[in-house]
Amino acid sequence: MPQSIDQSVNRALFDKVILPVYAPAPFIPVKGEGSRVWDQQHNEYIDFAGGIAVNALGHCHPKLVSALKAQSHKLWHVSNVFTNEPALKLAQRLTENTFADRVFFANSGAEANEAAFKLARRYAIETYSPYKTKIIAFYQAFHGRTLFTVSVGGQAKYSDGFGPKPADIIHVPFNDLAAVKAVMDDHTCAVVIEPIQGEGGVTPATPEFLQGLRQLCDQFNALLVFDEVQCGMGRIGSLFAYMDYGVVPDILTSAKALGGGFPISAMLTTHKVAQVMHPGVHGTTYGGNLLACAVGLAVFDVINTPEVLKGVAARRNAFIEQLETINQQFKVFTGYRGKGLLLGAELSPQYHDKSSHFLAVAAEFKVLILNAGPNILRFTPSLVITDEEIKDGMNRFAKAVAKIVQA
Ligand SMILES: *Cc1c(COP(=O)(O)O)cnc(C)c1O
Repeated sequence: MPQSIDQSVNRALFDKVILPVYAPAPFIPVKGEGSRVWDQQHNEYIDFAGGIAVNALGHCHPKLVSALKAQSHKLWHVSNVFTNEPALKLAQRLTENTFADRVFFANSGAEANEAAFKLARRYAIETYSPYKTKIIAFYQAFHGRTLFTVSVGGQAKYSDGFGPKPADIIHVPFNDLAAVKAVMDDHTCAVVIEPIQGEGGVTPATPEFLQGLRQLCDQFNALLVFDEVQCGMGRIGSLFAYMDYGVVPDILTSAKALGGGFPISAMLTTHKVAQVMHPGVHGTTYGGNLLACAVGLAVFDVINTPEVLKGVAARRNAFIEQLETINQQFKVFTGYRGKGLLLGAELSPQYHDKSSHFLAVAAEFKVLILNAGPNILRFTPSLVITDEEIKDGMNRFAKAVAKIVQA
């Protein structure tokens, strides 16, 4: 429990001192443990949001706390003028356990994607032609908020209003192979896709679609880039989603759960593609930071175990079962989507455009959930959330739904 509350540090202060790009909840979390969070007034919440698919091992997991503490006594930062042990170990883990041979570390999903898109362009330009720069991406996709990543993302409301966008990016409908075929050509350097669209509505690609993209990329010498920032690192029950689909990309990005709450991201690629990079071509000051990589290593070693990965399916089932019990009484959902613990509940037409209202009322009843657009509720809890935490949270959620339905 928090020991003291500084009354001057409250939600009203946000509106005075923080750039108004967010609209945070009225309460301020101050402490967390497992899938429980407490606010300044000592209210306890069950966390089904997991910091937007970040806190994959819940809050203050003992192994992560001890990794961070241990590293904090040794060395924090050396810059990339030097390499360091935690970064090398984490890169070794990532390459030994995936298709990849090479890793680039950064600090956010957007930066990993920025590196991926720059690499794809560089590879095509150096290997084939200076005109091979077209990037094919998808409507509703989300890849981050830098100008390049937001432009590859498929939601104009996020990319409009900032002046000229990077050129030669084309968007087509998700899961529509014919649409990709119609725009794919020798000038295409990359197809960029979230195997399961997260922010855009929790929509999984079909296996045929990803297989088709792989074939088209091979045929036109383009790279297949998987943005697994949200769906990777155990979220759907396999270490990365590509493993579940059996379709291997040329570049993969990871962030969010990779640090379990500490900022870190990674871009993974093959030796063949990595060859076009040389010292000075790309970089970032904090990339491979010792604290971040020490935590990332601890996260990786806990998530990449049969115990955690195999537990995801059972937890998904528990979520759907209990949501369905609520639904039988209140008729608020028409179906469930996503994979593993990237779970979407589709609101019935009567509740369309109301997803943020569900979030607000759920928080009133002390359970934290997310949305993905106006019509989908999103659940991205800890991969190690307990049965008891699920039940407790669902009891609270049922009360929230009752209030909404009876209003
Ligand atoms: C969250 C997210 C990003 C952006 O990550 P940041 O760390 O916010 O930059 C990129 N791609 C996907 C699929 C995401 O879910």
